[in-house]
Amino acid sequence: MEKTPFEKDLLDRFLRYVQIDTMSDPHVTDRRPTTAGQMDLLRMVDKELADFGITDRYFDPNGYLIARLPSNLPGGRVVKTIGFMAHVDTADDVMGNGVKPRIIDAYDGKDILLNSQYTLSVEDNPALVDYIGKTLVVTDGTTLLGADDKAGLAIIMSVAKRLVEDHSILHGDVEFIITTDEETGAGMDLFPIKKINSSCCYTLDGGPYGELEAECFNASTVNVTFTGVPFHLGAARGKMVNSVTMATRFIASLPQSESPEATDGRYGYYCAHEIQGTAEKTELTLYLRDFDLDQLKRRINVLVQLGKTIEALFPGGSVTIENKFVYYNMYDTIKKNPQVLEAVRESARTLGIVLHEKVIRGGTDGARLAELGIPAPNIFTGGHNYHSRFEWAALPTMVSAANLVQQIIVYWGGLSG
Ligand SMILES: [Zn+2]
Repeated sequence: MEKTPFEKDLLDRFLRYVQIDTMSDPHVTDRRPTTAGQMDLLRMVDKELADFGITDRYFDPNGYLIARLPSNLPGGRVVKTIGFMAHVDTADDVMGNGVKPRIIDAYDGKDILLNSQYTLSVEDNPALVDYIGKTLVVTDGTTLLGADDKAGLAIIMSVAKRLVEDHSILHGDVEFIITTDEETGAGMDLFPIKKINSSCCYTLDGGPYGELEAECFNASTVNVTFTGVPFHLGAARGKMVNSVTMATRFIASLPQSESPEATDGRYGYYCAHEIQGTAEKTELTLYLRDFDLDQLKRRINVLVQLGKTIEALFPGGSVTIENKFVYYNMYDTIKKNPQVLEAVRESARTLGIVLHEKVIRGGTDGARLAELGIPAPNIFTGGHNYHSRFEWAALPTMVSAANLVQQIIVYWGGLSG
C-alpha cells in the first residue's frame, strides 16, 4: 500500500535518526552529554526545527533542546502551554551504535530472519501478527534499533512539522523538549527547568500500541553499616562480635515474599543489592521500591527496627541505617492534575485508540519532571523489545502515536487557560 506523505516523513525521519551513533555511556560522569554523537543528533534536530520555521529555540550546551511553537489561537486566546519530550540517546545493553535499520514493507506474518544467527519469531512476538501487510522496521541482528527513543523523537518532529504547515490545526503554545543521556539515569540532572513554560509534559518514550504509563516506583537506597568487635579467632569466645554474621542475619530476616524475584504488578520489594565486609565492619546496600510511598516508608522503618533487633542479638555490635530517596512515583503529581490524563483518554477516544494503562516497575525522566512539579505521563511510540537486538518498530503505531499527540494538543487548545 502506498504511504501517505506524513507516513513517509515519519519513516524517513526515524531511519535518519537511528543511523546516527548516540549510545550514551553511564560510566562517564564528568561530561554532558556523555557521548559526542548525542550532540550531533541534537544539533541536527535543532536545524530541522529551524527549517520548519520554529524560531523560539533554546539550545543548552549540557545537551537539552527546547523549542516553542507559538499559539495560533484566534483572538489571542491564551491556554496552558504543554510539552512533549523525547531523548536522543540509546542504551548500551547491546551495541547501540552502527545501527543498520531494515524496512519490511507489507509484512507477511512469518518469522523475520535478522541475520544468519538471529530470528525475530512470531512465537516470542505475538504482536507481530497485528501488522500483517504493514510496514515494520527491524535490526540486522548486530545492534539494537533505537526506537527507544528515536521513534518518540521522530513522532514529535513530524507533528511539529505538521503543526507548522497546517494552519487549520488550532493550538496553544507547544514545547518540544529533547534530552540526552536518559539511559544513564542522570540525564535530567542539569535540566534547565526555568527555560520551559509547560504546565504538563508528555514523554514519548513508551512501547507497544496503546500503552499509557502514569505511575512509576518510589525508590530509595538504604545503606546499612554493621560494626563488630574483631578479636583473635583463637581467643574470641565472649569477646568477638562478627559484623559479617550480623549482616547475614539481617538479610535472612527480610521477607522473601517481598523480593524482586517474588513480586510483580503493584507489589513493592526489598532487594539486598550489594555487600562488602570483614568481621570488623560490613556495608550493605539495599534497594527499596514501592508504588505507595507509605509502604516504602514502612519498609524503611522495618529496617530500622531490624537493626535494633540485630544490636540486641549481638551485644557490643552496632548497626547504622542511612536512607536516601532516589525518585518518587510520578503519579503523586499527576493525580493533582487529573486533566493531564483525561486529555490523553479523551483524545484516544476521539481517534478510536484503545489505551492500556500500565505501571512502570522502574523510574523515568517523567518522574524527574514530576519532582519538579510538572506532571509527565508516558505515551507509546510503537517500539518493542527495547535495549535488545530484537528491537522492532511498527510504522502504523508510530502514526497512531503522532495522531494522538496532535489530538492532545488540539484538546488543550480547546480548553480555557
Ligand atoms: Zn527511553
